[in-house]
Amino acid sequence: MIPVQGYAGQTVAVLGLGRTGRAAAVALQAGGATAVVWDDSAPARDAAEEAGLDLRDLTKAGAFDGIAALIVSPGIPHLYPAPHPVIAAAWDAQVPVDNDIGLFFRSFATRDWDNFHTTPRVIAVTGSNGKSTTAALIHHILVENGRPAQLAGNIGRGVLDIEPAHDGEVVVLELSSYQTDLARSLTPDVAVFTNLSPDHLDRHAGVGGYFAAKRRLFAEGGPDRAVIGVDEAEGRYIANQMIEGAADDRIIRVSSGQKLTGDGWTVFVRKGFLSEHRKGRQVASVDLRAVTGLPGAHNHQNACAAYAACRSLGLGPKGIALALHSYPGLPHRSQVVADKNGITFVNDSKATNVDSAAKALQAFPKVRWICGGLQKEGGLEGLLPHLGHVVKAYVIGREAADFARQLTRADAEVCGSMDVAVSKAAQDAQEGEVVLLAPAAASFDQYDSFEKRGEDFIAQVRKL
Ligand code: ADP
Repeated sequence: MIPVQGYAGQTVAVLGLGRTGRAAAVALQAGGATAVVWDDSAPARDAAEEAGLDLRDLTKAGAFDGIAALIVSPGIPHLYPAPHPVIAAAWDAQVPVDNDIGLFFRSFATRDWDNFHTTPRVIAVTGSNGKSTTAALIHHILVENGRPAQLAGNIGRGVLDIEPAHDGEVVVLELSSYQTDLARSLTPDVAVFTNLSPDHLDRHAGVGGYFAAKRRLFAEGGPDRAVIGVDEAEGRYIANQMIEGAADDRIIRVSSGQKLTGDGWTVFVRKGFLSEHRKGRQVASVDLRAVTGLPGAHNHQNACAAYAACRSLGLGPKGIALALHSYPGLPHRSQVVADKNGITFVNDSKATNVDSAAKALQAFPKVRWICGGLQKEGGLEGLLPHLGHVVKAYVIGREAADFARQLTRADAEVCGSMDVAVSKAAQDAQEGEVVLLAPAAASFDQYDSFEKRGEDFIAQVRKL
């Protein structure tokens, strides 16, 4: 655990008692603060009280008297579509609002570091898609190359739950837009931006707010090094805002598909080969075609970002290339779960938005596509240009009929549930085809989480 610095002897309120809130309360207390906690849910409050935390009803008038800060969990709206009433009350009482990420950055460095040979570093990864894959890949590469590393944030452990850094350790953080929007301190050594496509629009009042939240990681006086995916205008914009001139190697631009030119530091993939260029010359190249854990152009983008982040810490190209080959992949992201009679079954349940599903569809030449679920704002229009590899769609979810109707350019059958979809797709599939779960929608109409949806897909495949 990382004891929180800067609040010793003061009282700090914590709103939200899931994993993040409970960890924040404990870490505040370890740093000498008094934590008082609240949650709208009575069972969550009871559980916290049983765990020895002090409840304070933050909805009551005067609740913020004597409170030094309010720490909020990422699931609680802090501004849009409307601020939670407790957060609005904190504003009115002039109490600073922060989150666990802000607490982490103000607490991570300690006096012990004075005796370290190599200063610990933090790499923070943000973007719309590929954050988990890129963060897990960076962590894997570091560990395989003998660098001590911890993985935390949206993936792995909560940021305040990790161990205080050892000499030379690297902490890899995956940060969501909710987290970067609210954190009062965001000071990674290396910041990575994978890509941008619309998501979570209700929480950010549109794409502009969503992008602004992610951009905070790259704001003035930002990271020592920034690794930026430049396949969208937003990435090019951030890169341009940071750059001092054409040869500024504080920025590493990455792309999947485009040859990047110029005097700066770039990493890109073309025709399955990753190239690194510096000062106008190629300095390394890696053949990604045989890297089985990272299929498709989208995963090549993640490979570029992870490669660049690790190069910026001084790792050599050969060691990174070897680690790319041994990357086992994450569950529910391009996860090969079975191969039966020449038909491959791939679980990409994490493809919860249109862009990630479109990318997954591009990764395989002939796809029996299981899709559907709770649709996100913006509709399915964005998918239509990417259905060229789809032999047939098998649509699940409560709104399956409406979903299927929107897939005007594909043969789409309404299946409703996963068992029906898997068995029909498997029956229809020919040798060489892929049965792919890439829903392009959230799971909450039928499942508690995208993980449960992916597990159901795996269970149905096993039954075949
Ligand atoms: P995040 O943590 O940002 O949600 P994940 O690595 O968990 O990212 O991947 C989420 C989904 O997006 C998966 O379906 C995955 O296959 C897809 N994906 C992964 N990397 C990318 C990328 N670079 N661009 C677009 N989609 C991606």
